[in-house]
Amino acid sequence: MDQIKTGKFIASLRKEQGFTQAELAEKLGITDRAVSKWETGKCLPDAAIMVELCEILGISVNELLTGEKIAMDNYKEIAEKNLAESIRLENEKNQKLTKTENFIGWSGVVVSLIMIMCGIFVAEVSPIVAMILISAGGAIVLITTIYATLLECDNGYYECQNCKHRYVPTRKAVILAVHVGSDRVMKCPECGQKGWHKKVMTK
Ligand SMILES: [Zn+2]
Repeated sequence: MDQIKTGKFIASLRKEQGFTQAELAEKLGITDRAVSKWETGKCLPDAAIMVELCEILGISVNELLTGEKIAMDNYKEIAEKNLAESIRLENEKNQKLTKTENFIGWSGVVVSLIMIMCGIFVAEVSPIVAMILISAGGAIVLITTIYATLLECDNGYYECQNCKHRYVPTRKAVILAVHVGSDRVMKCPECGQKGWHKKVMTK
């Protein structure tokens, strides 16, 4: 599979249908950032959204993954190949994401702890150096937390426990939300209720 080819294919079909990226995103209940990422070949649409996207674009999932319209006689063979390949890609993506998130989170914590400890250690000798070290340590915690949060926001969905609606929240909503692990208190765009929303990888 060629993500760039698929991306260009999505863009050309979307334009054929006369939609902007934002309009297509709205139809699918996702952000226009996601559409832009598909079209530039940075990632493929999630499996769950693919069917809906293909319906809107008037193509089959097989054609979406291949990045072009497919003639009927070699349809099945290409479909099998695409299926196997997309399962492999999806697994890889989930693993990579968890690894990256953990790496950023833990290295941020370790580096800032070291800086803060050095800060405390030199406090008596040089209060200014101590202050710089401690505030830089604090800033690193903040930056890595925000970065890991944004990474999480861009992948997967949140599920409202009240109505089971799954959606992609705005970055602002995710950063400002109270959270425990990856569960966050947010307002559901479907039923309007505020509550703990669970992180899910598929729609
Ligand atoms: Zn809801």
